[in-house]
Order: sequence, then structure tokens, then C-alpha cells
Amino acid sequence: MAFAITQTCCADATCVAVCPVNCIHPTPEERAFGSTEMLYVDPKACIDCGACADACPVDAVFPVDSLPPAQREYADINAAYFDRPETESPATAGSGTADHGPNFHAWGEPSFDRVLPSDFRPLRVAIVGTGPAGMYAAEDLLLHTRSEVTLIDRLPVAGGLVRYGVAPDHPATRKIGDTFARFHSHPRVRLHLGLDVGGHITAEELAAHHDAVIYAVGAAGDRRLGIPGEDRAGCVSATTFVAWYNAHPEVAPDAVDLSAERVVVVGNGNVALDVARILVSDPETLAGTAIAGHALAELRRSKVREVVLLGRRGPEHAAYTRPELLALKHRAELDLLVDDHDPRIGAAIDAAGPQDKAGVLRDLPREAVDWSAPPEGTGRRRRIVLRFLSTPVEVCGDEDIRAVRVTGGAGEREIPAGLALRAIGYRGVPQAGLPFDEATGTVPHERGRVTGAPGTYVVGWIKRGPSGGIGANRACAAETVGTLLADAVAGALPAPTGGPKAFRRLARRRR
Ligand code: NAP
Repeated sequence: MAFAITQTCCADATCVAVCPVNCIHPTPEERAFGSTEMLYVDPKACIDCGACADACPVDAVFPVDSLPPAQREYADINAAYFDRPETESPATAGSGTADHGPNFHAWGEPSFDRVLPSDFRPLRVAIVGTGPAGMYAAEDLLLHTRSEVTLIDRLPVAGGLVRYGVAPDHPATRKIGDTFARFHSHPRVRLHLGLDVGGHITAEELAAHHDAVIYAVGAAGDRRLGIPGEDRAGCVSATTFVAWYNAHPEVAPDAVDLSAERVVVVGNGNVALDVARILVSDPETLAGTAIAGHALAELRRSKVREVVLLGRRGPEHAAYTRPELLALKHRAELDLLVDDHDPRIGAAIDAAGPQDKAGVLRDLPREAVDWSAPPEGTGRRRRIVLRFLSTPVEVCGDEDIRAVRVTGGAGEREIPAGLALRAIGYRGVPQAGLPFDEATGTVPHERGRVTGAPGTYVVGWIKRGPSGGIGANRACAAETVGTLLADAVAGALPAPTGGPKAFRRLARRRR
């Protein structure tokens, strides 16, 4: 018997650190770690100790013989990873980290009893943003150094995208928020909620009261399609939709109207899958979750019978991850089919290997959908149509929307719909006091140090762009904190002019 890692894997490698036999891969030292969708247990090497399951922050690890039916295939998925010729063995693995000064993070080493150069004088570090990126940075500083951390969030509730981005039917993933929340009350942490840097206080004031400031502000905007009709009522960004069902304080309870029978979701990423899944879920299965009350009420009134997911490229290039697609396939209450409007789609699915994303679609029905007919779903049974090779060129209608016009395959056609959601990615927004690269929507930096701003650092999506799940932020934070500590050792941090008490008074006064 062995353990297997399943759908909710966040790939933050907490399990790798506790595995006594190094049977979980790819590790952060292996090249594949940077692009992996999840981590895998080698069943031949696993000694069945369960340390990984105990350490997993998102309840993703189970003994193979107790996998729930919908997760049983993960026994094979884990084993298959080690059968692939390209899988690196620990002996041949290339190092993912180059040598850039002192390494404060030998991965997974217990470090509470280590004396670091930076510990001669504890640093005072402000972290702006309490989502995963900010919290991994805080955890790193608190566990590896004697730093004091000022945690700041402009919202009245901490958590960032863990609180306002993860779908309510993913409770195991949301659970990682509990792990982060333990640090909110750490004796060396001061938490300031409802404090807006750039609004209540300036970046300069924050910097003047700390040795260093780390911005973990994420990507608060969303990408635009740039097509006619995009601003019509009824064409809504998925970021708004996600924030709506998660009760984000800045999104109105009536921001979404589900009176249409067909919804078009533009985009093929995991956010597109999240919103499609919520739209077709039986609302009673969401009733016991953290979903916003107003969203549950609207879903109970919903007329939606069919959701069309539009991918501009083929199934082999879809941005969603295999575990999320597999989970959708296992939803008994919904029909999932591929619109067979172009022969290249079936060809790509048939050519895919069993480990490829497109291969997951092999046993799904394929049908050339007749878009002039009404949506197919009936009663509580709804359907999701995956339409690849289709690029939206117009959101058609008058006040409300009537259809989305797409091009691709046999030419242009209109897909009738009453609601269009664009799930084409988040985008960073400029942060007062920091440089900004308009092309990438990120802050220019070198290994986390903001260009031309000594003592200022970035981590997470504002640093590397809006891609990668929660766990990707752990390695990202390790890099930024490593740079910060190296700067501290080199004496390159500007000295603060105000102390912690003065900062608390300032924050209280301004808020
Ligand atoms: P994403 O993964 O970058 O996907 C964006 C999608 O939008 C892609 O399919 C992209 O197509 C498409 N797109 C972009 N511009 C377009 C345009 N002009 N017209 C049509 N399609 C366009 O972004 P995301 O879904 O927002 O996810 C962000 C990150 O969060 C990802 O790393 C994701 O895995 C993660 N996340 C994970 C979970 C989970 O694990 N459950 C849930 C939510 C989010 P192209 O590929 O052709 O560019």
C-alpha cells in the first residue's frame, strides 16, 4: 500500500519536506517543479508512514486503498508520473535554484534554532497583502529569522484570493487559509486590516517605519478582450463573478443576473472551469459551503441550463489543469461534451497520450452542436459544452447581450447567450509609489527586489504575473525573502526613521 496525492494538491511542497524517503516529486530542486500541475508519490518508494498526509495543508494526500471513488484514478496518475522517461530521478535532477548569495532556505530544514547573520538585529518588515504570497513570505521570515512582521490588508478580512478567489465547493483548498491564519496572531506579528497603502498611508510613510516592505498585492484587475460589445450589461469579468459568489465587500450582491438559459464563458483556464462548475452545480450542494448568501439565492433562481466554454486554441493547449478537468468529468449531475465543429479538435484528442490533458476528453461525447436550437440541459441536469478553436470577436446585443460571435473552424458564427463571462486572466494594477510595467502588469524587480527602490520587494502575482496556483507562491516567497535577507546582511536596507509605536499611531489615525 502507498499514499497518493489527489486533485486538491497545491504543490507548495510541504509534503516533500517531511517525506523521510524522498518519494514525492518533483521536488523544488527539480526542474519540473516550476511547471508541474501537482506533486506525485512514487508508490514503489513510499513506506506508507503518512507524514505527507499529516503535513498537507489542503487534505490532498490519502492512502491508496482509502481513496474515494472519484479520486481512485489518482493511484494510477501518481504511479504513471514515475514511468515517464522524462521524469528526473533524484540523482539526475537539475537544481532549480542558482547560487545568488546566502541560502537562508535550505528547503525543509528545521531552522528555528539557527542563528542567521540577519539575527544580529531583528528586522522590521511590512508585508502588504495577506493572500498566499504575502503569508508564505511572512511564514518564511517568522520561521527562519527573528524579524517582526507588520501584516497589512486593505480589506477588513484577511486572506486575499484564498478567501475571495477559491471556489466555495473547494473546501480543502480553502483550508490552507487556516494554516496562514495561525500567523496572524504570532507574537512577532501586527495585523492591520482595512488599511490601504496608497490611500490611508503612503508607500513612503510605510517604508519610513520599516527596514523593508514586501508588496504581495496580487493582480487586482482583469484582462480585457478588446472586442465590440464587451462593455454591454451581461458581459461580466470572471473576477467579478468569483468575487460575487465569495461575498467580496466591493462587489454588489446584485452584480450577477442568472436569468439567461445559456452562458458563454470565454477562456480555458481553471477560473473558467470554476465559474462554469458553479453555474451548473445543484445549489443545494453549495448550501453548506462558504458561498455568499446572495449568490446562493440567485443560483436557486437560476435559469441557466447550459454553459459554453470557449477556448481560442485546441484541447491540447487548454490552460486548465488536468485534476480540475477530471473533477468536472466526475460530476454526476452534469453532461460534459465537446463541440465537434472542426476536425482538428477530434484529431488532437485522439492523438493525445493518457497523461496529456487532451487525453482526458477522449471518452466524452463529441457532437457538432446546433446553435440555432435552444440550450440542451433540462431541469436540474445541466450541461457544459467545450468549444475549442473559437475566438470571440463581438458581444452582440442592444442593452442586454443576445449572442457572442466567434471565429474559427468553419468561419464566423453566433452563439446565442444572455450572459458572457470573460475568464481570460487577471492583471496587475499599478501600486502607488512603485514602478510598473504596463506590458506585463507587474512591478519590475530582480529576484524580488524592486528595481530602483532599495528596501522594497515584491512577491506573488504582482511579481511574476497572474499564473500558478497557491503553492507556487512558496518558492516565489523564498526567493524574495532570500534577496531581502541578503540585502540586510550586505547593509543595503535604508534605516527606518520611525518605530513600531509611531506606525501603529499613524495607522490608527488615518484609518
Ligand atoms: P489562465 O490560466 O492564464 O487562463 C486564461 C485563459 O484565457 C486561457 O485559456 C487563455 O487562452 C484565455 N485567453 C486569454 N486571452 C484571451 C482572449 N483575448 N480571447 C480568448 N481567450 C483568451 O488564467 P486563469 O484561469 O485566470 O487562472 C490564473 C491562475 O490561477 C492559473 O495559474 C490557474 O491555474 C490558477 N487557478 C487555479 C485554480 C485551481 O487550482 N483550482 C483555480 C483558479 C485559478 P490562451 O492559452 O490561448 O492564451
